[in-house]
Amino acid sequence: MVEVKLDRITKRFGSFEAVKELSLKIDNGEFLVLLGPSGCGKTTTLRMISGLETPTEGRIYFGDRDVTYLPPKDRNISMVFQSYAVWPHMKVFDNIAFPLKVKKYPEDEIRRRVKWAAELLQIEELLDRYPGQLSGGQRQRVAVARAIVVEPDVLLMDEPLSNLDAKLRVAMRAEIKKLQTKLKVTTIYVTHDQVEAMTMGDRIAVMNQGRLLQVGPPTEVYLKPNSLFVATFIGAPEMNILDASLVENEGIALEGDGFRIPLPEDFRDILLDYLGKDVLVGIRPEHMTVKGVSTLEHVTRSVEIDGVVDFIEALGTDTIVHAKVGGSIIKIKLPGHIPLPIGEKIKIEVDLDNLHIFDKTTEKAII
Ligand code: ATP
Repeated sequence: MVEVKLDRITKRFGSFEAVKELSLKIDNGEFLVLLGPSGCGKTTTLRMISGLETPTEGRIYFGDRDVTYLPPKDRNISMVFQSYAVWPHMKVFDNIAFPLKVKKYPEDEIRRRVKWAAELLQIEELLDRYPGQLSGGQRQRVAVARAIVVEPDVLLMDEPLSNLDAKLRVAMRAEIKKLQTKLKVTTIYVTHDQVEAMTMGDRIAVMNQGRLLQVGPPTEVYLKPNSLFVATFIGAPEMNILDASLVENEGIALEGDGFRIPLPEDFRDILLDYLGKDVLVGIRPEHMTVKGVSTLEHVTRSVEIDGVVDFIEALGTDTIVHAKVGGSIIKIKLPGHIPLPIGEKIKIEVDLDNLHIFDKTTEKAII
């Protein structure tokens, strides 16, 4: 177990910057998720931490040790990939034992450790089989067992669940999280799946276009996104974004096509520089409700806007109401089955304490 520190690392491939001045500290025993869309530089970052790639600029530390130019074999790390990368010609036992044999552990220690890892991953029954005789989920368990058997200082995982079907992915998600909690190994986990990030990470680091945009515990990143990108990347259905102007007219208010949202006076100081300007308003679907149909819980301040039901998505546990507000369609998530008629006029209640306002030019969060 070690602390990992990335100090302004940049990776260029020719003139293309895949990772740009990324600084991040991953605590001892922490489960950090690197989250972002395809091509944002997650894998490149992980490969630099592993030693498979060298930063063009910047430094990487494991504890006090500068590992920037150390080869992977000298870092005491393990990696798990999306493709499992288990060897087809070796039995499960030999696959798991392989890194121990490379390190010339004695035979009885190898047997003890393989048994320990296989028990943790519940694959003791499979030790005599070849990978070709296993399901995808079992193969991934073998890959994870092989990764932990050496008791690495740092465990690196690159989309390890992507090749599994949806149900198995959910089950393995919980298992990997529990295993990591038990072993307390410093873990860096790459994914583009925001649900995986939310459910597994102690903290999430959101990346886009080679840059680290925000890092924090899942609920903080979800409830207090620092930018339009983070706000809309995390959450399903996505956060609703509306164009508005911040006006002063009997108090401050947001005015847009078909709506007016009066704001409490305590918003004024934060918004002072934006009076008279155009901004973007963000409201998550679950931070609104339809008046007379369901209520917002734990809400102290709210406002009402007018809408018309445009479409209903019945998900069983929830209902997503698509409502027309002016010329825009917004989505409202209501618990339970709520069969509202299309075309019905509704009053939409908006939770003011979960309202987001973004600078239209920089797309940074103001509130
Ligand atoms: P994905 O989820 O699709 O794997 P990612 O966020 O992991 O995406 P990276 O694999 O880190 O993204 O790639 C970041 C960018 O760097 C991409 O535009 C990619 O094409 C580019 N890139 C990665 N490796 C190389 C390389 N060896 N040579 C040139 N460009 C590269």
